[in-house]
Amino acid sequence: MANIPQGPLGRRVSRPVQVAGVVLGGGAPVVIQSMTNTDTEDDFKTAMQVAQLARAGSELVRITVNTREAAAAVPRIRDRLRTMQLRVPLIGDFHFNGHKLLTENPDCAQALDKLRINPGNVGKGARRDEQFAQLIEIACRHDKPVRIGVNWGSLDQELLARVMDDNARRPEPKDATGVMREAMVASALESAGRAVELGLPADRIVLSCKVSGVQDLIAIYRELAVRCDHALHLGLTEAGMGSKGIVASAAAMAVLLQEGIGDTIRVSLTPEPGGDRTREVIVAQELLQTMGLRAFTPMVAACPGCGRTTSTTFQELAQQIQDHVRERMPEWRLHYRGVEEMTLAVMGCVVNGPGESKHANIGISLPGTGEAPVAPVYVDGERVATLRGDDLAAEFKSLVDDYVARKYARRNPS
Ligand code: SF4
Repeated sequence: MANIPQGPLGRRVSRPVQVAGVVLGGGAPVVIQSMTNTDTEDDFKTAMQVAQLARAGSELVRITVNTREAAAAVPRIRDRLRTMQLRVPLIGDFHFNGHKLLTENPDCAQALDKLRINPGNVGKGARRDEQFAQLIEIACRHDKPVRIGVNWGSLDQELLARVMDDNARRPEPKDATGVMREAMVASALESAGRAVELGLPADRIVLSCKVSGVQDLIAIYRELAVRCDHALHLGLTEAGMGSKGIVASAAAMAVLLQEGIGDTIRVSLTPEPGGDRTREVIVAQELLQTMGLRAFTPMVAACPGCGRTTSTTFQELAQQIQDHVRERMPEWRLHYRGVEEMTLAVMGCVVNGPGESKHANIGISLPGTGEAPVAPVYVDGERVATLRGDDLAAEFKSLVDDYVARKYARRNPS
């Protein structure tokens, strides 16, 4: 792997891109984004879902803009968010007809904070260049940054054919996987170069190359990281549902983030039927927080349980404490500085319980099978209380609330 130029914090040095007050790259903290799955034409439902994602912690939200009606709805979505006093930057996702929609509806371009363009879907042949140029001119006119988002499912076929021809002439041609990876990188870099030639400043360009394979994503972004200094948006595409999607996204992105690559991330989870769209935001937060890159919400460590604990008490308590922390966090965040870094432990027996609890800011060790029915509570390494009886959850929550109020500095009322 070639050397990736890195800044003092071990992060790759990229040009910072400003998106309505949110900075992508240039050493700024990795930004979390998400995407709605409502029909954008329904401005009420879309604004509600944007609000839900933003309140869950999404710092940028993307919406698809696929029809005239959707383009017309974008300013209304923006207005609805303003009414809710939500300033989350909105990104418009454009394919095939983006040049037309934005030309016909300048208010849509104005209401958005960033445009996402897929260079494989802007048109074919001569029209592709013309339509790409139109999109970039619109971005320049409205002072909007652009993500050039290549996706392997819609890779520019003419470019792929050219890369294959070039590869065939090499003394040692790459295999099909290598050619696909090279074509993805070339599509992103050539499109970015073209956008700069058309007048879009380099510090308004973010690149992404999304694939669904973990090894492909890692190889492609390592290559992008050394061949350009644009801010990079990371994410697997079609990561999948449930644990598969979470594991694949975490496996791929963790490797890159650890190498300092990636300025903004999206975890593209397929929601389970009736599932909550905000799951992708929570997973992205947990990925960054467990890696020690950012802190969002106090983390609860819990043991997996084993034959030493045959009741479900500690599992229920761990769940209740996690829920309690998430419920309280919006208020705590307003009042207590640094509370997001608090650590909690809920442990199942004396084997590792007291030790793990002592390492947390506040921890409880429940009695395992055959142990005395008492639950010692540790605060900053010291045993401070012993809980027993049926009210354990309520008492422990109350101790957590007291700890937060005592330990974290009160913010000045704004
Ligand atoms: S702390 Fe106790 S209950 Fe939990 S996994 Fe370890 S031995 Fe089992």
